[in-house]
Amino acid sequence: MTFEDLNLIEPILKALKTEGYTNPTPIQQKSIPLILQKKDLLGCAQTGTGKTAAFSIPILQLLHEQQQNSDQRGPRKIKALILTPTRELALQIGESLTSYGKHTGLKSTVVFGGVSQHPQTTALKAGIDILVATPGRLLDLMAQKYVHLNSIEMFVLDEADRMLDMGFVNDVRKVLKVLPEKKQSLFFSATMAPEIIKLANTILVNPSQVEV
Ligand code: AMP
Repeated sequence: MTFEDLNLIEPILKALKTEGYTNPTPIQQKSIPLILQKKDLLGCAQTGTGKTAAFSIPILQLLHEQQQNSDQRGPRKIKALILTPTRELALQIGESLTSYGKHTGLKSTVVFGGVSQHPQTTALKAGIDILVATPGRLLDLMAQKYVHLNSIEMFVLDEADRMLDMGFVNDVRKVLKVLPEKKQSLFFSATMAPEIIKLANTILVNPSQVEV
């Protein structure tokens, strides 16, 4: 199977070619069509399987198509939120969104703790479509009103098992509380222990399940 077979739009296919990607990995083959159909997804996949592209590519495609079909002017509102447990993962997801999305016109930024918030708030004020965040810094920025999540249409919880191991479950719940009810949610975890399933059940509606 090639990326052409996944009904991807030209701006994304072009970027993937530049990246040197020709064939989607198994998690990408299974997840991309389901996400493009706007289904909620429960994905069981480790890092290294191509999981980041499996959710980043369809998010970029859905938001790009939406942008093409709207004549909305004015400041950008955050349409997709990706929560991930560590700074390294957040940066990696941010880089992926930038490379796969470079011909889409969509903007994304990354926020995480342990560094000055100033460059992050500058990027937020300029307006973005997609936000990648670790939970603690996101809550800080929300409390200071630098981040508004009332326009979120797509939500990703990445590495849910590590989120729980690192003690972020209450932070995640606080974020979930302010997200609009109507949204598409994608939930990824390397393991599916009972607490993970329990958390997934509070987030996902009638999810499709994908395992690799
Ligand atoms: P991830 O599992 O998301 O951390 O991705 C693991 C690595 O695989 C990253 O360096 C990606 O750039 C790379 N990668 C993801 N999908 C593909 C693909 N379809 N073809 C080639 N490399 C890929």
